[in-house]
Amino acid sequence: MTGNFTETDATTPSSAEAPQISIDGVRTHLRCPQRYRYAHEYGLHTGDDVPQTARLELLRTAICDALRAGDVDTLEARALDRFADRWADYGEGVHSRAQRRHERRVLEATIRAYVEVIGTDHAECLYATRASGADGELVGPDLPLRSTVMATRPTADDDEASPLQIDVPIDYAVLEGSSFVGVRFVPTAAHLGILRYRAAWDGDVADRFAGHFDPDRADFAPEMVATLLETAAALDGLRTLRDRLSLTDARTCRYVQVPVLDRDRLTVNPLRERVETSLEPVDLTEPYLDHHTFGMTHEHRNQTVDDRLRQVATAAIAGVDDEAFESRWDQIKRDVCPTCPYAVCCTKYLSSEVAFDG
Ligand code: SF4
Repeated sequence: MTGNFTETDATTPSSAEAPQISIDGVRTHLRCPQRYRYAHEYGLHTGDDVPQTARLELLRTAICDALRAGDVDTLEARALDRFADRWADYGEGVHSRAQRRHERRVLEATIRAYVEVIGTDHAECLYATRASGADGELVGPDLPLRSTVMATRPTADDDEASPLQIDVPIDYAVLEGSSFVGVRFVPTAAHLGILRYRAAWDGDVADRFAGHFDPDRADFAPEMVATLLETAAALDGLRTLRDRLSLTDARTCRYVQVPVLDRDRLTVNPLRERVETSLEPVDLTEPYLDHHTFGMTHEHRNQTVDDRLRQVATAAIAGVDDEAFESRWDQIKRDVCPTCPYAVCCTKYLSSEVAFDG
């Protein structure tokens, strides 16, 4: 292989273990099965140290550290202190001191916006949840949740279904009223597509989801579809955690993502050297749940999405399906290859680039 890659342990387990896949692997497989193979089967990592990833980790760690212990009134001060501690060692490659100062102000403004918009409420809920006797970790970062689905592996000798485990990390969970809410910080809202603006499954969310899997339609929406599958896995993992913690007041579970690096929400006053921003958490439960399944189960579920989660995870574990890959090729080449870190070594992509017309 050429390119700046390192090999790490691939995630495919030995045949003796229950198959396991991360929700990140499910998303990668939806984008491109070959890309999943490079990243998750071969364990080729691309040295993804882009500033956005590092900033997200800084914020995520500072906020979770502050949430973990203390009182509600000092949450913002604690989060800013934790952030300052880490910032001293943060070596992002910025081109000037002024830019570094600006980046720091942006991230501090984001922490203040988080505390104002949902942080204070969630800290109150978290400490009340603990006070009620919940005995178990509720704060990450990367608090592991696991969703278990029963799947038949296409490559297995028998067709008996066996457990397939899907790992989906969240950053913290709180009991809010009668809902157990899982929260995940994400860089931006770009992957959400119409999910950001829809409060119901019925309509164009259901239609686009179906269109992605319909071989007679040219729809290709891997990011939106992956986000719905992630919601299904997170809610299933939250239900398991809720039951393990005996949170009997939590009748339903909800999954919320909080974009924290959306630069278009910034306002900058260069004369006063002030930066302000705002946050808009997105509750993905609403566009995910369908009322038919909810009526049958009284839980936030969607049978269509849950079935697809099982099928996509099973297909990813089974390996590249060349026929399915070829049928998607035009869309993958147009939408995914241009930003794929494996393009420099991908034979499929390279051969398509040097092929000549006629
Ligand atoms: S370059 Fe294109 S075909 Fe190759 S792994 Fe990346 S997305 Fe897939």
